[in-house]
Amino acid sequence: MAEKYIPGDHKEEGMVESQPRWAATVLHELGHSYDRNSKLISETQAFAELFNQDAAAMNANQQQRFAKDIERAKQGKRGEVFANLFMDLICQQANFKPPRPDIARAFPRSLAFVQKYLASH
Ligand SMILES: [Zn+2]
Repeated sequence: MAEKYIPGDHKEEGMVESQPRWAATVLHELGHSYDRNSKLISETQAFAELFNQDAAAMNANQQQRFAKDIERAKQGKRGEVFANLFMDLICQQANFKPPRPDIARAFPRSLAFVQKYLASH
């Protein structure tokens, strides 16, 4: 099954038009695995601070869209957002179109943190 791509985001030369949904799921689950194997980066103070800054800077639509993630973050659970940002970054690296570009847009500071972490480990 082809993943529906939302036009206008991450559009770069050479990216494939679509990738199967299972590929995104595998990358998301790999993100959880990476998080666990790295002593839960998603639960560090550094990630929490950037997450909170991103949440505070969101527009009303984004706050509504990510309300569940923001709510879970109040209980210290930011693993879903971490896994989705991981998925987004790996898709970019692999020249796949990220299936959820809205997440990267809503969490730019958190994304930069994950990117930096991946680059240095
Ligand atoms: Zn998940």
